[in-house]
Amino acid sequence: MGSSREREGKSTPSLRTIVRIHRPTPELPQHLEALYRDFPFERSLAEDPISSIRPFTHDTRSAEVLGILAATLAIGNTTAIRGSLARLMALTAGAPEQWLLETPRGARARALRPFRHRWIRGDQVEYLARVLAEYYSSHETLEDAFLEGYLRGGFPGGLDSLVRVLRGDGSRNRNGPPPAGYLHLFPSPLGTPRSPCKRMTLFVRWMVRERYPDLGYWRRVPTGDLRVPLDLHVHWIAYNLGLTTRRTRSWAAVEEVSEALRRIDPIDPIKFDFVLCHTGISGDCPKRRDISVCGPCSVRPDCRMWRGRGVAA
Ligand code: SF4
Repeated sequence: MGSSREREGKSTPSLRTIVRIHRPTPELPQHLEALYRDFPFERSLAEDPISSIRPFTHDTRSAEVLGILAATLAIGNTTAIRGSLARLMALTAGAPEQWLLETPRGARARALRPFRHRWIRGDQVEYLARVLAEYYSSHETLEDAFLEGYLRGGFPGGLDSLVRVLRGDGSRNRNGPPPAGYLHLFPSPLGTPRSPCKRMTLFVRWMVRERYPDLGYWRRVPTGDLRVPLDLHVHWIAYNLGLTTRRTRSWAAVEEVSEALRRIDPIDPIKFDFVLCHTGISGDCPKRRDISVCGPCSVRPDCRMWRGRGVAA
């Protein structure tokens, strides 16, 4: 029989995991509320893809079409995302809904052929336009697609139902097979639980939340049921505040963080998403101990980088 130290290392690794778990402090709700209350939303709005959609708030359908495009392209840094959206907007002469839904398929395909955003290609955007045109010929809003699954299986069911529509399930006889890689643009929490499905949860947040900076077009999904769009910035801070014990992003981590935020604000838990995300994007959070940056951070007493450690340590 080995020493107790060897036994701990070999036979009880879960104990070592338990010791490292960082639980939220009792004061975290007040500190997160302070972070939200004092956050410079206007400063960060210009950096966010939703700044490209907000000019269309008078036109719900255009905002929904632009929203699904913006969410689909929401990979990489915000400058590149906004640049790609601006190129799409230039192609559409500022009328994304009419252009994407009404332009003849051949003309649309030629115009989009040179388009690239990271690994997303113009032929994939063109196929999405076909799918949307087909869908909108018999539906007013993508909320109907979300609700169909939501009423049966809650938020994950709703997201699954939405991505099935966007993948073109059920319309392939008319639209043809999708281009290579297209289906991977739309993961579902039911089919791909290792994915946090960030881009589609972000789209649903934009559509459901009424409070700034979101749009609130969808009125039949309660804000309390939303899930957090778990990007790298949000996950890093959530993990270091003890909102999740999971070190990697997945749908299970999305559920953990969302549930923790729901305990803080049951009515509007995902209001913290924009703030946590842009705290990371803006450089307000250095993701390490740096008192010159962390000094004014409202959640510093709760942060794993600082909790139980002195300023000079
Ligand atoms: S204390 Fe520093 S590292 Fe921790 S969340 Fe705040 S800014 Fe980020």
